[in-house]
Amino acid sequence: MEQPILSGIQPTGKLHIGNYLGAVSNWVKLQDQYDCFFTIVDMHSLTADYKPAEKSQQILSTVIDLLASGIDPEKSTLFIQSQLPEHAELAWYFATLTPIAFLERMTQYKDKSARQKENINAGLFIYPALQAADILLYKPYGVPVGEDQLQHLELTNDIARKFNARFGKTFELIKPLLTKTPRIMSLLDPSKKMSKSLGDQHVINMSDEVKVIEKKLSRAVTDTGKSGQMSAGTKNLFTLLENFSTPDEVSFYREAFRAGNIKYSDLKGNLAKLIAHHFAPYRKKRAELEKNPDYVMQVIATGREKARAIASQTLQEVKTKMGLVI
Ligand code: ADP
Repeated sequence: MEQPILSGIQPTGKLHIGNYLGAVSNWVKLQDQYDCFFTIVDMHSLTADYKPAEKSQQILSTVIDLLASGIDPEKSTLFIQSQLPEHAELAWYFATLTPIAFLERMTQYKDKSARQKENINAGLFIYPALQAADILLYKPYGVPVGEDQLQHLELTNDIARKFNARFGKTFELIKPLLTKTPRIMSLLDPSKKMSKSLGDQHVINMSDEVKVIEKKLSRAVTDTGKSGQMSAGTKNLFTLLENFSTPDEVSFYREAFRAGNIKYSDLKGNLAKLIAHHFAPYRKKRAELEKNPDYVMQVIATGREKARAIASQTLQEVKTKMGLVI
């Protein structure tokens, strides 16, 4: 069988345009070429502070988000990580092969530890071993992600190499698959990637209505437009414009920037309309799916069975090679 594609997303809230441009839009395209597995990585999401009463709703909401974005359960397998114990089990075997020094180098671990000083849990530290298990269970060819995940994918390959060297060739090395916009920046602090953990005003959610987007963009950091040097915030706005507008409109604003007479309020107003328009079908589909929970539960149940057939096979192979099958 042709090697599949796998990727995951945490159920931590609304999807934003960084998730979409860096990952989810690519998933929608790839499902026409590959056998695709997409997982809601709820176990990863427990490493940050969360409210138990909200979690199951967040999981369902993220499944709905992916379906509304264009993930088609006829083409792709959509499943919930915690419904397959194979993930946690393989993560443990991988943890025994992962040097602590490798985990200490992970920038995500350092960033999140700095952000959640009261909750630096062991799960946060060992997160990349679970991510390696999520991926390698399905022996995929590639993993479509945003740029922030590249270091974790390198570690996944380190673990694959270590496993192969010790127990015999089992895993092929995986390839990161990036979009042409692998890193969308925060509106208010364009030195950081757009992330829901920074706060709602830093991100544009796919579900935001035009008025909300207008308000958020009106506060987005730019520059005076007169120095000739494009600041990080302005670059980010142009990246968004390139994705949601026409080449003519992009040229128009680039020319205005060069001439030093760009009107950012005009650019931002247009961009807000374009983004809201682009995601109108998503918002419509999302509202429909919310009225159809039986269908959503059916997708999840089918995904679980399809994923499990493959995951259990790989786990059995791993246990046999490690000498655990008696
Ligand atoms: P978040 O970082 O908002 O918590 P996740 O960690 O669940 O979101 O990421 C889901 C996918 O979206 C990953 O492939 C990640 O690389 C991608 N992604 C997240 N933020 C961005 C961004 N600002 N730009 C591009 N891709 C992103």
